[in-house]
Amino acid sequence: MSLLVVGSVAYDGIETPFGSVDRILGGSATYISLASSYFANIINLVGVVGKDFKEEDIKLLRRKGVDLQGLQRDDSGNTFFWKGKYHYDLNNRDTLDTQLNVFEHFDPVIPESYQNTKYIALGNIEPSLQEKVLDQVKNPGFVVMDTMNFWIEGTPEALKKTLKRVDLLVINDSEARELAHEPNLMKAAEKVMEMGPQALIIKKGEHGALLFTDSEIFSAPAYPVIDIFDPTGAGDTFMGGLLGWLSYTDDASPQNLRRAVIMGSVMASFCVEEFGPERLKDLTEKEIYDRYREFRELSEIPEISHLD
Ligand code: AMP
Repeated sequence: MSLLVVGSVAYDGIETPFGSVDRILGGSATYISLASSYFANIINLVGVVGKDFKEEDIKLLRRKGVDLQGLQRDDSGNTFFWKGKYHYDLNNRDTLDTQLNVFEHFDPVIPESYQNTKYIALGNIEPSLQEKVLDQVKNPGFVVMDTMNFWIEGTPEALKKTLKRVDLLVINDSEARELAHEPNLMKAAEKVMEMGPQALIIKKGEHGALLFTDSEIFSAPAYPVIDIFDPTGAGDTFMGGLLGWLSYTDDASPQNLRRAVIMGSVMASFCVEEFGPERLKDLTEKEIYDRYREFRELSEIPEISHLD
């Protein structure tokens, strides 16, 4: 099954307590595409890069099977640049620099050959642009959306409008509380689902994730990664693994959504092991499925004999 990905394509500067890089490939669409490339047959990327975008990065995306017909090249400026710094508590980061560059005037245009894509990943961009993507897709089958505090606070009406057209929203716990104006996470989830999405995933950083559907709640464990170097892109990678799995299996049932949440967590756990998207470049099927098994074992709850 095919997958459409829209979001930022970027160069990132990253500082963590373990080292730093000045300029490494990044962006939400990049991470989503790389993570989903292990599952999806066709990945249709929609984004924009500037005149500084390197040929080796184009080659990497092509090598991972990403279709770049929808990747605009704007020679009037540079690629979006973001710089962040992490502290010992890797859940917290400071944004040191954001240079929108060619991303400032990004207008997503969906090539005709992408318009029948079934699975849609709306990376974290302005909600009205996310909606513009949906306007250009014919009969989207399953739409997953990411967002952030910046849009929840800055463009709440546009966000709520887009949310009505989304099947699954993926946000973190603080964003869920803010969106619902509700400190209790369970109540916040209920309120967010009333805004439109049939399913909701609340990520809790290194503490796992919660999946809410109409009928059930599923709690995914966190993987105890020993060598965390750089959390950049973990959220986008989670979304890429999740949607890649859904498109590969072409099954959005609650049971398969559970597998997809674990597959997202598997891919995110690899992502943080090296700087930028390095670890996502050459994973093997065995590494992925072995880690999936480890996740299953992590949350196996033994039975108590006198309980049925
Ligand atoms: P994550 O760590 O999953 O939240 O995503 C990190 C990626 O988001 C980095 O590779 C950045 O290039 C990208 N990013 C940071 N700020 C923005 C922004 N305002 N709009 C779009 N992408 C961004």
